[in-house]
Amino acid sequence: MPMPITLDDTTIHPIIEQEGPLFDVMSFFPALTNEVFDENRSWLQPHFIAPSGALMLCIQSFLIRTPHHNILVDTCVGNHKERPTRPFWHRMNSDRFEKGLAALGLTVDDIDYVMCTHLHTDHVGWNTRLENGRWVPTFRKARYIMSDRELAHWTEREKNDPSSCPWITDSVLPIIQAKRAQIVKSDYAFNERLQFIPTPGHTFDHFSVLVGQTGHDCLITGDMIHSPLQGKYPRFGMMSDYDSAQAGRTRQVIFDRFCDSATVMCASHFPSPSTSRVGRWGDGYKFTPI
Ligand SMILES: [Zn+2]
Repeated sequence: MPMPITLDDTTIHPIIEQEGPLFDVMSFFPALTNEVFDENRSWLQPHFIAPSGALMLCIQSFLIRTPHHNILVDTCVGNHKERPTRPFWHRMNSDRFEKGLAALGLTVDDIDYVMCTHLHTDHVGWNTRLENGRWVPTFRKARYIMSDRELAHWTEREKNDPSSCPWITDSVLPIIQAKRAQIVKSDYAFNERLQFIPTPGHTFDHFSVLVGQTGHDCLITGDMIHSPLQGKYPRFGMMSDYDSAQAGRTRQVIFDRFCDSATVMCASHFPSPSTSRVGRWGDGYKFTPI
């Protein structure tokens, strides 16, 4: 099991659902050229990019345990979801996620809050589970915290073209209908030790989650970055970005802020262990695993 991060009386545990070579790297990063790939091959392969050329990705949640709450940041892909365009996520039936919770002595009923960094299919899946043919909240006692503008953006898209975002239909709207959502701004402060930082670009109103106090803290990035390659080349967008140029500016602003600091980066899709500190690397940023 991946090691937790301890910050005073709070611990952060990765809960992995899936890890492996999922997408062809050249399709995933449309701006990546063969020349740049070749220049960086020695440090990228095989840990970050498989010999096949597929990007190694981790699909995981982070559980924040405080003395008062169990908080889950993002909820992976989930089971029994119809995802025909993504064969490795289509009708998944895996017990790995729930076993990850159980290894910490928790069940789905022990989760007090779910925080959704953004509303993409691999971050909202376990929001719901199938019960008697209906999608119901998996975490029955939890409040699900989402950005108002992110939710409005996807709700509108689902209304106009539901087939383009089935995860909104089966994993987000049932939470709203069950009245389990808490809709906030993307700079929401949950308390003085847990606050959201707007990191837009990958999606319309994406946020990252900062936990702890200055000098002893951790940033759960969500999808503001997918691979250390986007650290070295912050301008590299990925194929599903809402606005890749904005996502690139976000990476510069955020990594400038945390560069050479003690802040631990929990990068949701980096291969495990997905924890590192960020420093400079030419015009970009290097992630040193901890
Ligand atoms: Zn993702």
